[in-house]
Amino acid sequence: MRYTGKIYRPPSEAYSFILQATLGCSWNHCTYCDMYHDKEFRVRQLDQVLEDIQLASKQLGSATSKVFVADGDSLVMGLEHWIPILEACRAAFPALRQVSAYATARNILDKTPEELSRLRESGLSMLYIGPESGDEQTLQRIAKGASFQDHVEAARKAHAAGIRLSVIFLLGAGGTERSREHASASAALATAMDPEYLAALTLTVIPGTPIHRLQSSNRFVLPDVHGLLEELRIFVAEASPTDAVFRTNHASNYVPIKGRLPRDRQRMLAVLDAALQGRIPLRPEWSRGL
Ligand code: SF4
Repeated sequence: MRYTGKIYRPPSEAYSFILQATLGCSWNHCTYCDMYHDKEFRVRQLDQVLEDIQLASKQLGSATSKVFVADGDSLVMGLEHWIPILEACRAAFPALRQVSAYATARNILDKTPEELSRLRESGLSMLYIGPESGDEQTLQRIAKGASFQDHVEAARKAHAAGIRLSVIFLLGAGGTERSREHASASAALATAMDPEYLAALTLTVIPGTPIHRLQSSNRFVLPDVHGLLEELRIFVAEASPTDAVFRTNHASNYVPIKGRLPRDRQRMLAVLDAALQGRIPLRPEWSRGL
């Protein structure tokens, strides 16, 4: 397969065919993110993407049941790219049961309800979206480019089209200053977006990013491990989607938990309390990843 630069995908797409249809991220402003700083955003030529699907079909064939369309926010592509890609995937992979992509709230809001429905009918079944926080001040400080309400509206539009959502929050994104508000408002946004899947990651401050510059001048202070676990506890205690699978299995987290919210809330809170009281080991720093 032909890829340009580093490829990122959600943990749950580990066994998916990763199809690189765009390069980089069309937004590329989030203050904590350096994933696509080495790439100028562009949509790849359609004939090359279709060639990659043919190549993958020969190499992976009937084994492929999931396709993840990279890079950063590939939903930004117009339907003149999306529809042929989705149709080619359907033709190439007989066992295909899911096509997913990263999206920003803006990508979804910029599509009409009819466009989203056409994407769903053609096979796009899930979007990963990372508001990272529900706290307006934090959203502005991390330059997410969308508000609490934008994310709620984006989720409503995606769901109306029948597209499932996996929504990601970022522990520590509010710093020590907004820690409580960030955790609580993130739980409120998770409730309002009502996704099928929810995840929490932990912020790693990467040298060279704007948030690192703020940290270096003491204008941003990342909560310590205890503070980050407290944020996670608040989130789990307060988030009430209808029925969402919740995971913290990303390598950036100190405690991997998995369950359904709200169903398994008490069980997950018990694990977090044990972690907060030092009764279970945390993931060691050396084994944490981005
Ligand atoms: S939208 Fe995603 S990929 Fe783009 S800059 Fe923000 S975090 Fe990075």
